[in-house]
Parts: sequence; C-alpha cells; structure tokens
Amino acid sequence: MSLVIQSARIIDPSQGLDQVLDLKIEDGKIAALGENLDPQGSDILEAQGLILAPGLVDVHVHFRDPGFTQKEDLETGARAAARGGYTAVICMANTQPVINTVEDVKAFQARAQESPIRLYTVAALTKDLKGRELNDLEALAQTGIPAFSDDGFPLKDKGLFREALLRTKKLGLPISLHEEDPDLIDRPGFDSGPFARDLGIQGAPVESEVRMVERDCQLALETGGAIDIQHLSSGQAAKIIARYKEMSAPIVCEVTPHHFSLTREALKDHGSLAKMNPPLRSQVEKDLLLDHIARGTIDFIATDHAPHTMEEKNKPILEAPSGILGLETALSLAIKNLVKPGLIDYSRLIDLMSTKPARYFRLEGGTLKVGSPADLVLFDPEATWSYDHSLSKSQNSPFLGNLLPGKVFYTFCRGKLIFKE
Ligand SMILES: [Zn+2]
Repeated sequence: MSLVIQSARIIDPSQGLDQVLDLKIEDGKIAALGENLDPQGSDILEAQGLILAPGLVDVHVHFRDPGFTQKEDLETGARAAARGGYTAVICMANTQPVINTVEDVKAFQARAQESPIRLYTVAALTKDLKGRELNDLEALAQTGIPAFSDDGFPLKDKGLFREALLRTKKLGLPISLHEEDPDLIDRPGFDSGPFARDLGIQGAPVESEVRMVERDCQLALETGGAIDIQHLSSGQAAKIIARYKEMSAPIVCEVTPHHFSLTREALKDHGSLAKMNPPLRSQVEKDLLLDHIARGTIDFIATDHAPHTMEEKNKPILEAPSGILGLETALSLAIKNLVKPGLIDYSRLIDLMSTKPARYFRLEGGTLKVGSPADLVLFDPEATWSYDHSLSKSQNSPFLGNLLPGKVFYTFCRGKLIFKE
C-alpha cells in the first residue's frame, strides 16, 4: 500500500527544506519527495495549507507504567502523544518498579513493541533513584537505552556524579538531569515569591536551579561526560548554560511549554494545575528564558508530561503532587508563544521538537529523508482548536478550556495513520 501526500508545506531541518512538495509513503518508509509525484496506484491525501514535518519527538515523559497506571499507561500515553503530533517519546524511570536493571529495560522494550508510537525508556542512574549507588551502567548501556536519568530526584552527591560522568563518557551516553538543590527548598513546586509567602513557605528559589546547573556544567566540562539539563525554568540558568556552551562543554538542555508559556501568577488561577517541579517563575525569568530560546541556547522542547489523577490534584495545594500534562498542547503553545511572536520560525520549531532530539538521543525519526521511516505529522498552523478533554488518563492541564492555534490533522508512525482529526 502506498500513499501520496500532495502539496504540503514540507519542513525538514535535516535537509534544510521548507517548500511545497509531495511526499510518498510506501511500505512504512518515505519513498519519494518531490514536485508533482505520480499518484497512480496510490491513495491520495490532499494537504494544501498544512505543514508536513517529521513526527515530534519528546525526550521527557512520564507514562507511569508499570506501577501508577491509575494516572496513565503506555496505551493512553501513546494516544495523547499521537494527538499532539508525537511519534517518539522517552519515558522516565520513576515507575514501580524503577527501571534499574537490564531486565527492567527489556520488559519495557517488549511492551513498547505493541505501541503505535516509538516508546523508549531511560534507565535510572542510581539504584531506586536514591542517589546513593550507581546502577550497572555498562550492562544497561548494552540494551540500547538513549540516556540515564534520575529525573525527579536531583543528584546531591557530587563525587558520585563525577564517577557517573566518567563512566557514561566511555559508554557514549548522556545523563539527563533534574536540577534543583534540595538543600535550598522547603517545599517544591512553588517559586520563592509572593504566592509562596502567602502560603507561609520559602518554596524553590531560582537559586536552587542555578546552583545545580553551575555545578553540573562545570563537571561536564571537566570530565567530558555529556549532560542534558532537563526542564530549564529560569533565564539565569539558561545564561549559565550559554556560557559553558561557549567553552564547548558537552551540554544540551530542554525547556517545557509550560515554562515558556506561563508565569508563577498562574498559580492564582489554576492552583495545583500550575504546580510542577521546577516551578513556574517570574515574568523576568520567563522573558530571559524566551530570549535564550530565540538565541539558540535551548536544544529541545520537551513536555515533562506528568499525569496525575484529579483526586490527587484536588488535594490542598501544598499536598497535591507536582506535574502537568503536556503532549497534546506542546505544538500549539510553541506556535502561540514562540513562532507567532517572531522568536523562532517553523524550521527552528521542528528542529527543537523533532530533528535535534532524535539526532542527539539516536532515536528513529526526526527526518523526512527518502528511505527513512514514515514518522510524520501534518498540522494546520492557522487553524484554532479547543482543548476540552485530554486523551490521557488524567486531566491535569491548566490549558484545558483554552482555544489554541495550530491543529494536528494527521500523525503517521512507521507509515501507519495513528491519529486523524
Ligand atoms: Zn524532572
């Protein structure tokens, strides 16, 4: 079976392409790319007005499976991903059991085979994410994992982290890091500021991020071990990363759509639906972060998709868990807050959301080169849609009820249609 997608605006940073063309899918692969392809014998999809790009790649999600499937599972997570235009995601290791061993990774990979999208998992860097003892990194590297991460748990022990970097450098794998110094935080999820003061807490100051980022950039530079700084929340931390990048330190970094779309003021309107780690920051920090997206300091947009049940999120705000959904709204929020205001163009957007993360973590996808797997998304950048309900098992998004620009119409993975509006 083959399909010719006609007259789409094809954007593919891997080929420097932004042009109206046809694209042919055959046997799950991209078979041809060009003007006026012969559609004879193929199905036809008329795509005038739509952008066709490599399927989006999210290097930071929590599908909660196994262990917390009341919040999300591999199936519902994949459904939300496909709706958002994603064809590949990297799941974090904070499941039950934690992804500690080769067997844990293999069990995940076996189940991932069944998924309509490409599911990857990191392995925990330290046993049970406790930050005390390194897992068998050498054995885990053999399973084909894209990275190690204790996401959710900052690594306090500097000596242990240095040892980890020296070992992962030899393995050629990066460590993805959640950067918040726990010693400076009394309650996570709230920036230190007026809202935290009203709650009678100090919260998680920008300093807690800045300090860890500075330490870890320094160690990456010193050891040559590669790191990915996750969900950067402050402009100050971005500034540090820019400085170390200038010294050619092996560092990349992620920003979430919520950190570039919202400020800590959102806590007033959305309560616990605006609570996450690291927290939303002030307008000043957000603006500086946006500036670093425009300047190219930021490498990936990653969602930190973190489902929680309404029952959990409805607890008093200090007790409610941190984290919000992200997969279905990421593209729209990036269009609304990055492309429309002129900070970046669509090519950069696709680079940040697909090509660059796929290449860095050596995942399938991220390109429309002939012969590549047909992992792609078609969206209308001008069409608006109303985000009324999530396909995730949870509904913890402050963006529910919003009218958003940029509507996904089709998502294909391995040449198969996995989402259609
Ligand atoms: Zn995290």
